[in-house]
Amino acid sequence: MVSRVIPVDEFDLVIFGGTGDLARRKILPGLYRRFCAGQMPETARIIGAARSEHDAEEFKSIVRAAIHEFAANHACDEQQIGAFLDRLDYVQIDARGEGGWKELKGMMREGVVKAFYFSVAPALFGDIAERLQSNGIADAESRIVVEKPFGRDLQSAKKLNADLAKHFHETQIYRIDHYLGKETVQNLMAVRFGNILFEPLWNSQYVDHIQITVAETVGVGGRGEYYDKSGAMRDMVQNHLMQLLCLIAMEPPSRFDPDAVRDEKLKVIRALEPIDHHHIVRGQYDAYEGEPSYREDAGDLRSRTESFIAMRCMISNWRWAGTPFYLRTGKKLKARNSEIAVVFKDAPHSIFGEEAGRHANVLSIRLQPNEGMTLKVTIKEPGPGGMRLIDVPLDMSFAEALGDDAEEITDAYERLIMDVIRGNQTLFMRGDEVEAAWAWTDPLIEGWEARADVPKPYEPGSSGPEDSMMMLHREGRRWREIKG
Ligand code: NAP
Repeated sequence: MVSRVIPVDEFDLVIFGGTGDLARRKILPGLYRRFCAGQMPETARIIGAARSEHDAEEFKSIVRAAIHEFAANHACDEQQIGAFLDRLDYVQIDARGEGGWKELKGMMREGVVKAFYFSVAPALFGDIAERLQSNGIADAESRIVVEKPFGRDLQSAKKLNADLAKHFHETQIYRIDHYLGKETVQNLMAVRFGNILFEPLWNSQYVDHIQITVAETVGVGGRGEYYDKSGAMRDMVQNHLMQLLCLIAMEPPSRFDPDAVRDEKLKVIRALEPIDHHHIVRGQYDAYEGEPSYREDAGDLRSRTESFIAMRCMISNWRWAGTPFYLRTGKKLKARNSEIAVVFKDAPHSIFGEEAGRHANVLSIRLQPNEGMTLKVTIKEPGPGGMRLIDVPLDMSFAEALGDDAEEITDAYERLIMDVIRGNQTLFMRGDEVEAAWAWTDPLIEGWEARADVPKPYEPGSSGPEDSMMMLHREGRRWREIKG
C-alpha cells in the first residue's frame, strides 16, 4: 500500500524552547521525518529560539544529536540529515526580555505560512504572544501552537485563554493534545462514522458500558516534584482521557470540519454529570523491591497527589443516559496499555439455553501497544457434542494491515504540526472545550481536597488499588485485563 504524502505550503516555523526536552524528543525528530517523507517544501525553514546563547551551527548539532537519539527508527541518512539541518536557524531570545525579537523579525519571510510553537512553560505564553505582535513578527494569518498543561484549573485556563486572545484570534490558536494526533484515535472517527455497522448500536440500548484505560509501567521518576503539583487527574484525565471520551460519545458531526467536530465534543463535556466520591478511586504506588514509592519519588512523604485514578462517568443525554463510562489511568501498572473497550449488552435471549453461558460482544480499540482493533464475537466451539459457544477475536493490527506504511502511524506530533501548517484545527482543542473540561474537573478535585482524601496505596506492577476493582464489582462488571 502506498501512502499519499501531500506537501504542505511554504512555511517558517519558530520553536520557542527549541533546545528543550520536548523539542528534542518529539518536535524536531518529527519534522525530520516529515522532511524525509517529502512533505516539507524545498525552502521551508525552522528557527529555534531560547534564552541560551548558541549560534546556528551549535543549534544544528543539538538537533543532529536529537535526530540520532529520537528518530532512530527512521533511516538516519547523513545526507538527509544534512539537507534537513540546512533549513535550521537559531535566535537567542528571552520570552520576557526585549533582545532578539528584531533579529527574529529579520529572519521571517513574507508570503509564507508563519507558525510559532510555544514549547515553553505556560507562564511564558502571554509574554511571547504579546512580543510577537508588538514587534510586528506575527500577522493575521500566523498560527501559534501551545503545549499542555493548559491551566491547572478553570481560573488559570481562562487566564491563559484571555492572554492569548488579546493577541491572536481563536482560529490562529492550536492547543495540542497529542492523543488527538494518534492514528487510532482518528480511526475511532473513521470506524464510527465511515461504517454503517457500529453507529446504530452505539447507544445505551445496546452498549452496557465503556472502559477507557491508559496504563503506564513507568513511575514519575525524576519528574516527581513537578508531577506532584498535578497528579493523574490533571495530567491525564482532564485532557487525554476526556478527549477520548468525547470522540467515543459525541454525536456525528455534520461534516469533518474543525468547528463541527469540536461543537459535538463540547456538548459531551457539558453533559457530563458530577461524580460522587464513591465513584472515584485514587491511588499511589508503593515502594517495591528497592524501588521508591510514589511519595519518595515526589519528595514529599505526606503527598496526597494521585498516581492512579479510576472513575465512573455518566453522560446526561438521550444517547448515553444510564451507560457508565469507566476511566482509569496510572503509573507503575502491570503493563503499558491504552485501550478503549465498548462492551455491548448480552443478546436479549439465548436460544442455546443456560449452559451456553453469557457472551457479550466487545469492540476494543488499542492505542498502544500494537495499535489496532479487536471485535470479540461469539461462535460455536468446533467439533461434535452439541452447541457450545466460545468467544473469538476478529483482530486487526494496523501495522499488519498497513504493511509498509506502518511506520507512518508511529508519531502524533508530526501529523499535528503538519496540520498547523495546513491550517486545519480539527485535531486541536478549542478554548471553550478546555474551559468546559476544567469546569467539570475542578469540583471533583475540590471535593477530595476538602475531604482530605488520602489515595489508596497499590503495588507496582498491579492493576491499581483493590478499590478500583470493587467499584466495578459492585455494579456486576469487571475491568478488562491490563495486558502488554
Ligand atoms: P524544558 O526541557 O525545560 O525546555 C524548556 C525550553 O524553553 C528550553 O529550550 C529553554 O531554553 C526554553 N526557555 C526557558 N525559559 C525561557 C525563556 N524565558 N525564554 C525563552 N526560552 C526559554 O521543557 P520541555 O520539557 O521541553 O517542555 C516545554 C513545554 O512543553 C512545557 O510547557 C511542558 O509542560 C510541555 N510539555 C512537555 C512534554 C515533554 O515530554 N517534555 C510533554 C508535553 C508537554 P533556555 O533555558 O536556553 O532558555
